[in-house]
Amino acid sequence: MSQLRDPLGPFLGDKTAKALANGLNLHTVGDLLRHYPRRYAERGELTDIAGLEVGEHATVLARVENTSKRRMKSRNGTVLEVTITDGTRKLSCAFFNQAWRERELRPGRTGLFAGKVTEFRRTLQLAHPEYQLLETLDDETSAVDDFVGRIIPVYPAAEGLGSWVISKAVRQVLDTFEPEEDPMPAELLARYGLTDLRSALEDVHRPPNRQAIEVAQHRLKWDEAMAVQLIFAQRRYSAVSRPAPACPRRPEGLATEFDGRLPFDLTEGQRDVGEKISADLAGEHPMNRLLQGEVGSGKTVVALRAMLQAVDAGRQAAMLAPTEVLAAQHARSLRELLGDLAQGGELGGAENATRVALLTGSMPAKERKQALLDVASGAAGIVVGTHALIQDTVSFADLGLVVVDEQHRFGVEQRDALRSRGADFTSPHVLVMTATPIPRTVAMTVYGDLEISSLRELPAGRSPISTSVVPAAEKPAWLDRAWQRVAEEVGKGHQAYVVCPRIGDEPAAEKGDKRPALAVLDLAPELAEGALNGLRVGVLHGRMPSEEKDEVMRSFAAGSTDVLVATTVIEVGVNVPNATVMVIMDAERFGVSQLHQLRGRVGRGDVPGLCLLVTEALEGTTTRERLTAVESTVDGFELSRMDLELRREGDILGSAQSGKRSGLKLLSLLRDEEMIAEARLRAQEIVGDDPSLGGHLGLVHLVSELVDADSAEYLEKT
Ligand code: ADP
Ligand code: MG
Repeated sequence: MSQLRDPLGPFLGDKTAKALANGLNLHTVGDLLRHYPRRYAERGELTDIAGLEVGEHATVLARVENTSKRRMKSRNGTVLEVTITDGTRKLSCAFFNQAWRERELRPGRTGLFAGKVTEFRRTLQLAHPEYQLLETLDDETSAVDDFVGRIIPVYPAAEGLGSWVISKAVRQVLDTFEPEEDPMPAELLARYGLTDLRSALEDVHRPPNRQAIEVAQHRLKWDEAMAVQLIFAQRRYSAVSRPAPACPRRPEGLATEFDGRLPFDLTEGQRDVGEKISADLAGEHPMNRLLQGEVGSGKTVVALRAMLQAVDAGRQAAMLAPTEVLAAQHARSLRELLGDLAQGGELGGAENATRVALLTGSMPAKERKQALLDVASGAAGIVVGTHALIQDTVSFADLGLVVVDEQHRFGVEQRDALRSRGADFTSPHVLVMTATPIPRTVAMTVYGDLEISSLRELPAGRSPISTSVVPAAEKPAWLDRAWQRVAEEVGKGHQAYVVCPRIGDEPAAEKGDKRPALAVLDLAPELAEGALNGLRVGVLHGRMPSEEKDEVMRSFAAGSTDVLVATTVIEVGVNVPNATVMVIMDAERFGVSQLHQLRGRVGRGDVPGLCLLVTEALEGTTTRERLTAVESTVDGFELSRMDLELRREGDILGSAQSGKRSGLKLLSLLRDEEMIAEARLRAQEIVGDDPSLGGHLGLVHLVSELVDADSAEYLEKT
C-alpha cells in the first residue's frame, strides 16, 4: 500500500526512484502523483507541431514519414534521419550510429517522441530524441503497448526520463495507492461537488474519457487553491491579530482642513478607498492594504489623507520610497500639497500644522541629525525616506501608519520588519501602493496577505493617448508616415520621443539569425540626416554620465531639443507636457506593461498624445497580438488581463515553474478566478475558527505537500 508521504524507492526500485529525484525533483509518492500530465494525446490524433516552442522539452505523438541513412563526413559512422509528422508539419530527428533503428521506425508507424525542440535552417528538430512506438489499435494480433486506453497522458519530462517512463512509474504507484483520509474537509467536498482524492488522482493519470479528466483536474485545482490561500489566510491572521496604534478620525484636524482646500473633487474611487482606509486606521488591529492604481490615478492624495488622519490622532506616518530620488520627490510634493499645513513651528505655519521630514542616506550629517530629532520628538508628523529608513536605527515618537510606494521591491520580510515598530510594540498600519496594475487573482495570490483596493479611473481632465501599431515589415510606407507625423508635431511646436531597445555601444549579444534590436546610437544620426533632417535630435541612455543626462533632460524640458532618441531610461520620472508623440522601435521587444508605462510619457499636457508601436512582428503571431492589445486599450487593468491571456500559464509564475516547485501546476490565475476567490473565503473562515489548523491536519499536510516554504516566499516576491 502506498501513501502520499512514502518514499518512491520501495515501489519503483532504487534506480527509477533516483532518476525521478534527480531529473524531476520527485521524491515521494505524493510528488509523483502530483506530477500531472501536461497534455493528453489521443490515439489517432497527432500532436500539432506548430504549437511547439523552440527550446522546450517536448513529447509529441507523431507518425514516421520517412527515414534516410547517410555517412557522416567529419567522423566515422552513420546518421539516421527520421522525419516525423503531424500530418501537416514535419519535425526532423537524427540518430547517430543507430542505423538499426530504421527497422522499427518504419514509415506509417506512430509513437511518442521526446526531446528538446531546436531550430536549424528554419526546420524544427528534436535533439537527442527518445521514443516509444505505439501499436495500432486495429492491429489486434500484435502485443498491446504500455498504454491502456485511448487517451495517453503526456508528462512534463526531463532528459532520460521520457513521458512513458513517468507513465509507467505512476501506474506502478497508483496500483497500490491507498490514501489516508481525504485532506479536504468533507463540507468543502460536498459544497463544491468535488470528487475524492483517490479518484481524482486515478483519473488524472489514467482517464477513461475526457470528462473524467476535467472532474479530476477540478478537484486537484481546489487542492492548490486552498493550499495557497490557507498560507495567506494564516499570514493575514497573524498580521491582523496584533495590536495596532488606533488612529480614529477627528472631525476637526489637518485631514478635514486639507480636504476643504483641495482644488479638485476627489474621484469616486479616491473617496471609496479613502473611507475604507479611514475605517481601518481607526481600528485596533493593523491595516494591511494594497492600493493599486496607475501613475496619475491619484494615489498620493489618498495616501496623504490617510497620513493626516494618523497625525490628527497624535501619531506619525512614514512614507517609504524605493530610491533616494523618489523619496526626495515625495517629500517635495507632499510639502507642496500641504502648504502651510506642513509648516509646523515656522513663521506663517497654520495652526496645529505638522512637519514633513526627509531622511536619506546621502543627506549632509547636520540636516540628517535635525531630521532624526524631529522624528524622535514627534515634531515631524510625516517622515519620508527610503526603505533603509526602517531597517535603520531611526526611532519614531509614535508611529501609526507606514505608506510604502512601489511594492515591487518590498517583500514580506520588509513588511515583517515594520511590525512592532509602532509605539508600545504595536504594529503600525500599512498601506502599500503600486502603479503596476495586475488582475485580481494574481493580486490575491501574489499579494495574498494584503487586502486589495484599486483606483480604476483617472482624474478628469487628462488628455487621451491614442496608440497605433506600425507594421514596418508589411507596410514600410507607414513607417515613413510615422516620421512625417513626428515632423508635423514638431512643426506645431511640440516634441517627440523615439525609444529603442538598445544603446548600441555594446557588442551585439543576440544569438542566432535574429536581427539585433535597433540602437539609440545608430538610429539617432540616421534620423538626423534622413527622415528628421533639420530637427534638433538629442540622445539619452543609461550609460551616459549623470551630468550629461541631466543636461540632455534640461535641454529637452526647455524645448531646445525637438526629438529625444532614448532607451527606456525615460520610463520613470520624466515629465515634459509639451511632448506629444512617442515612437517605439522594435516594440515587440518590450513587455506589455512596459509599453504602457512608456506611452504614459506623452499626453501629459492639454494636447492629446500619440504613441506609435513600430514592429516587424507579423500579423497573427502572439508577439503582434500583444502589441494589438496595447493599441486597443489604455486601461492598465484590462491590459494586464489581456497580457496574461496571451502568455503561457507557466510564465506567469516565472522560472519557479521549471526548477523549484511553485505548487501551482493546474490552477490558472486567469481562468480559475472564481475558484481562487471562493478558496480565499473558505480559507479565511477555516483559519478564523482554527488559526493553527490544529483541527485540520489534512489541510496542514496539503499545504506542506503543495507549497513548500521557498515557493510561498517566491509567490510573494514575484
Ligand atoms: P499617483 O500617485 O497615483 O501617480 P497623484 O496622486 O500624484 O497620482 O496624482 C497625479 C496628479 O493628479 C497630481 O497632480 C494630483 O494633484 C492630481 N489629482 C489627484 N487627484 C485628483 C482629482 N480627483 N482630480 C484632479 N486632479 C487630481
Ligand atoms: Mg505618485
